Amino acid sequence: MSSAIGLRVPSPVVELADERLAAGGVRVLLKRDDLIHPELPGNKWRKLKYNLVAAREQGHDTLLTFGGAYSNHLRATAAAGHYGSFRTIGVVRGEQHLPLNPSLSYAEARGMQLSYLDRTTYRSKASAEVIETLHQEFGDFYLLPEGGSNREAVIGCAELPAELEDHFDVLFCAVGTGGTLAGIAAGLSPGQRAIGIPVIKGGEYLEQEITNLQTLAFGSRRGNWTLNHAHHFGGYAKRTPTLDHFITDFETRHHLRLDWVYVAKMMHALYTQAAQGAFAPGTTIVAVITGSDELPTSENEPNAPSPKA
Ligand SMILES: *Cc1c(COP(=O)(O)O)cnc(C)c1O
Repeated sequence: MSSAIGLRVPSPVVELADERLAAGGVRVLLKRDDLIHPELPGNKWRKLKYNLVAAREQGHDTLLTFGGAYSNHLRATAAAGHYGSFRTIGVVRGEQHLPLNPSLSYAEARGMQLSYLDRTTYRSKASAEVIETLHQEFGDFYLLPEGGSNREAVIGCAELPAELEDHFDVLFCAVGTGGTLAGIAAGLSPGQRAIGIPVIKGGEYLEQEITNLQTLAFGSRRGNWTLNHAHHFGGYAKRTPTLDHFITDFETRHHLRLDWVYVAKMMHALYTQAAQGAFAPGTTIVAVITGSDELPTSENEPNAPSPKA
């Protein structure tokens, strides 16, 4: 599938030239995972990669997964199904709202069958009971958890550090469910460390969650990683004028629009810590641009026939 759909892997690495960082003696490289594919950006591709292999090996022709109405993971799963010739079912939290928002209508245009779960049932979506009900309704499927974070996802994300040829000391990564950081941290070399920036309020449980994901994938906690919980800007999908200003200013300076739910909070944390002198002069930091919030445009032909995988 990789060659057939033109994935850009390894993703590009570019230096971020910014006098505010240079003043602190810090060098920052951007790992542009957002450029991997317009419809399968960044960590979502890395997380799906080995799940698609597993689904095929296990003989499934359908992927079922969960997400909120704006979930990047739902959208990426729809695209992966389209390009990889899987039927896809997206179980959306809450009631249906018509017309569909651009994110869900994109998923539907990529062939995803949408189904809705009320918020109470959605909370127990991982229970055997709810899964059984879904099997009764949809038949056989390969189950991807919400956000796509499972063993295969972590193994896929662990491939990122080996793509970095430049020397680096510290890596910054936004954290939602923690699957991406769990993998990346496991792929670090001795002497390197990762700082995860949770984009949700009350994300302290993620420490255990990330440890659990690493244990699932590799048998134990791996790599030198920490979480910094002070940069969520009020919680998941919450924004403030400070964050908005940071995004606009960054775009003016660097011609890159940062995804506001994840990437902008991570980059803001990096700038803040650098300004506070948290890094010794000479430190090289990699910031992972895990994705973008731009929806694929119609140029990407959502209704084009699926190429053979
Ligand atoms: C989904 C997503 C994340 C969060 O990844 P997790 O593995 O859930 O922590 C980070 N950045 C972007 C752009 C995303 O879409």
